[in-house]
Amino acid sequence: METRNVYLFGGGGADGGREQRNLLGGKGANLAEMARLELPVPPGFTVSTEVCGVFSSTGAIPHAIQEEIARAVGFIEAQMGARLGSAEPACDACGGAPLLLSVRSGARVSMPGMMDTVLNLGLNDDTVEALARSSGDRRFALDCYRRLCAMYGAVVLGIGDEPFDELLAERKRARRAASDTELGETDLEEIIARSKALILERAGVPLPQEPSAQLAAAIAAVFRSWNNSRAITYRKAHAIPQEWGTAVTVQAMVFGNQGDQSATGVAFTRDPSTGASGLVGEFLPGAQGEDVVAGIRTPLPLEALARWNAAIHAELQRGCLRLERHFGDAQDVEFTVERGKLYFLQCRSAKLAAAAAVRIAVEMAQEGLIGKEDAVQRVEASALDQLQRPGFDRDALEEARAGGRWLGAGLAAGPGAVSGRLALTPAAAERMAAAGETVVLARAQTSPEDIRGMIAAAALLTSTGGMTSHAALVARQMGKVAVVGCAAMSLEGGGARFGANFLGEGELISVDGGTGDVFAGPIATRARGEHDEHLRTLLGWADGFRKLGVRANADDAAQAVAARALGAEGIGLCRTEHMFFGPGKIEPMREMILARTGEERAAALEKLLPLQRKDFADLFRAMAGLPVTIRLLDPPLHEFVPHDEAGIARLAASSGLPVEEVRRRAAALAETNPMLGLRGCRLGITHPEITSMQARAVFEAACEVALEGLEVHPQIMVPLVADESELQQQRHLIDAAANAVFLDRGLRIRYHVGTMIEVPRAALTAGEVAATAEFFSFGTNDLTQMTYGLSRDDVAPLLGRYLKLGLFPADPFATLDRDGVGALMRLASESGRAARPDLELGICGEHGGDPASIALCHELGLDYVSCSPARLPVARLAAAHAALRKT
Ligand code: ADP
Ligand code: MG
Ligand code: MG
Repeated sequence: METRNVYLFGGGGADGGREQRNLLGGKGANLAEMARLELPVPPGFTVSTEVCGVFSSTGAIPHAIQEEIARAVGFIEAQMGARLGSAEPACDACGGAPLLLSVRSGARVSMPGMMDTVLNLGLNDDTVEALARSSGDRRFALDCYRRLCAMYGAVVLGIGDEPFDELLAERKRARRAASDTELGETDLEEIIARSKALILERAGVPLPQEPSAQLAAAIAAVFRSWNNSRAITYRKAHAIPQEWGTAVTVQAMVFGNQGDQSATGVAFTRDPSTGASGLVGEFLPGAQGEDVVAGIRTPLPLEALARWNAAIHAELQRGCLRLERHFGDAQDVEFTVERGKLYFLQCRSAKLAAAAAVRIAVEMAQEGLIGKEDAVQRVEASALDQLQRPGFDRDALEEARAGGRWLGAGLAAGPGAVSGRLALTPAAAERMAAAGETVVLARAQTSPEDIRGMIAAAALLTSTGGMTSHAALVARQMGKVAVVGCAAMSLEGGGARFGANFLGEGELISVDGGTGDVFAGPIATRARGEHDEHLRTLLGWADGFRKLGVRANADDAAQAVAARALGAEGIGLCRTEHMFFGPGKIEPMREMILARTGEERAAALEKLLPLQRKDFADLFRAMAGLPVTIRLLDPPLHEFVPHDEAGIARLAASSGLPVEEVRRRAAALAETNPMLGLRGCRLGITHPEITSMQARAVFEAACEVALEGLEVHPQIMVPLVADESELQQQRHLIDAAANAVFLDRGLRIRYHVGTMIEVPRAALTAGEVAATAEFFSFGTNDLTQMTYGLSRDDVAPLLGRYLKLGLFPADPFATLDRDGVGALMRLASESGRAARPDLELGICGEHGGDPASIALCHELGLDYVSCSPARLPVARLAAAHAALRKT
């Protein structure tokens, strides 16, 4: 049997429908679907995407398909009672209007504006007069003809739009006309004559007068437009396969430019930026095709359509609602009104801002149009990032760009937008914040020592570092705006230099953590609208579908409370080192680090114990009833001691040691490779009294809170274990501390001891490690760093290059590497569970908030993901998506 290449629609039915979008393209499939619904759609046919493949390889349309096309044109002629290229009436009753056609592109997924369209095909020097006669409106006929000349020349003959736009603009200038509707017949005749001359001159051929020749050339041109550079770029950016091809839809023209009872417009069934229900859109009387979007004249809002023609407005509304119900999704609809009659020309799922996507999904489910499962699946998890905080006002942003205030860009590490005063040191940040200023803290990179300045700042800006650098990590956890690795910035001479621009400390600077852009001066921000209630509802539904638990990385009670409100089911990682930077804590910490003798160290630890105990107790209270995973001290000790002269002098004064001595001891802590040095459990093994003190503080706090009648679930986590023996050694200290405290307080509390899996060797020997560990938490930042042998703090410049060359599919510090790191995780999970069936498995690396990584965690059968509080909504939704995904 002959395969079919051309599909008809119109006249109350269609050959295809929405299930054939691969073959008919989105536009063709939906036009067919609308015809089946008996909405007023001008009749037409679609040449399938398969023909695009044939055309791309042979450069021609096979003869058999050309014949199919000719028969399909016959179908349109019969439907319309008019003939292509004929000035004669097709029947006595027909007014004698010649048939005109549009030739439109349409891929499987919408690629708005990327490919080409030709309107008013079939006009020539004779039929234009026939159209003038039949319509009784010569100006209208000439307007169509000048548009055909321009589109045919621009698209089919490849001359481009500009020379034709210029011809129109020139005529308008000569007439002092504000709008093209003010041009008269002689003007249009003039433009047509010049357009034809231009075509002959530039293309070397005249505008074909034979309509069938116009049609064949236009179809070929639309197929060719699949490979224009715009379309190729768009496909690359959106991962659309080259092989898909475009379909070509040929359709009878209807005319929005025919007198003042005609118009063309676009409608959305719900507001695409807020999600509010009710039609919104624009229309333009006396216009055709792209006039609305092209901004030739300012279009009118749809409310004005109700006044312009109430019946049309009502019919449009009914049709749009019907389409929305039918497709189960908010629709973006193109329509045209010809002499008081409405036609639907296109419908597709509307592209929505994040807030709108959430609201529409929830409300459509509440209205019974879709199921909750659909609603949850419809909202992209990463889109929720956009909802967290206000962004820069779009107009203000444009103004800043136009005014040359853009300074440079880095990695968008913490979403949101902040304008504030530039601070160069944590101390300055604290001082300015205390004075009531909004502060942007700029550093080469940050270390735990900067934490107070980071807390004081509203935004962080660093010149080095990647997506999991300290600054980025802390920013996301604290919900700060952050741009990291902004290489254009150098901190010098009491300010920040960006090429030729220099900003002194205290000057205003604006940071966009959603795009990575940095600007000089202030930019107004705007809240992103109400979404809380809808988001809460959607996430509640998501919770019902997900299998993964969701915990937060939180270091203090305030973060824990925030996390709980966002749905945290426990704390997956409390970094105890951050607790040492609070007021009154850094000094004893430093004394402990610089201690020479066991007694000195014990004395310092004695001071730290009550401080830690209080922090842990607050955390247990905030998380009553839920697990709290506390990690023992992890970073290299040198990060806690000052390295600048002023800091050393202050420490000398407070500790009573000579400056020289402090300097010497601080220097002695320096290591060539601190990330692979004395850190993690190696600290606790070298200084067992640190582990004992921390464990004791945890258990004393647990007893204290339990005696208040609250439920506590402490989990102590040992970092950087490479060998089971290390964990065993630490576990002895922890168990001993627990027994001592429980004996002393006269109660026992159930607790768990486990380990981070972040050194590849621990993953490879997980079976043995699980003999001692009751839980594993994958520390995928370090695990990625060590698996690749790639420093996460120095990766930024290299990464750009790797991504550009396609050597990495994505930043492995942002999205888990399935093949390498993922394989280690799988091995560790399987051998760990084989050794201990009830082994709890989680992840606490930054990947715990990344949708693609969460999907992998679901596949690996982890019990939970833990992420920064601000990412909890993303994690809950992504976990539901992973559970609902059908493979
Ligand atoms: P795009 O995919 O870029 O939106 P379209 O194929 O939708 O391109 O066409 C561009 C413009 O031409 C749209 O405004 C559309 O409504 C208009 N148009 C297309 N076909 C017809 C037609 N048969 N009658 C009137 N206007 C049409
Ligand atoms: Mg369109
Ligand atoms: Mg680590």
